[in-house]
Amino acid sequence: MDSVAASSTWTDADGVRQPTGDVHAWRPGTNQTVCGVQLSRAHLLRFPHVPWADAEWAAATGQPQERPPHLCRRCRAAEQPRRERDRSFRRP
Ligand SMILES: [Zn+2]
Repeated sequence: MDSVAASSTWTDADGVRQPTGDVHAWRPGTNQTVCGVQLSRAHLLRFPHVPWADAEWAAATGQPQERPPHLCRRCRAAEQPRRERDRSFRRP
C-alpha cells in the first residue's frame, strides 16, 4: 500500500497530520510520486503514516471541509484496485 505526498497539511481532531491541497500517491523510500513528480521540486510534504486509501476516503467525504484535498488523477488511476485494472486491459 502506497502512502501520500501533498502540497499542504492540516491536523485532524486526534492531532494527526493529514494531507490536503494537491495529493499524490507516494511510495516511502522514494523521492518522487507514483505519477513521477519530484517531491523536492514540487515542494510536496511526505505523509508516511497516511495510506493512499485514507486520502481517497478523505477526498470522497470532503475533509477538511474548508480545504478539501485534490487527488492527482494519474495517481488515482495507478492506485485503483488491480481487479478493475485487469478488467480494463482485458483483450476482446
Ligand atoms: Zn500524482
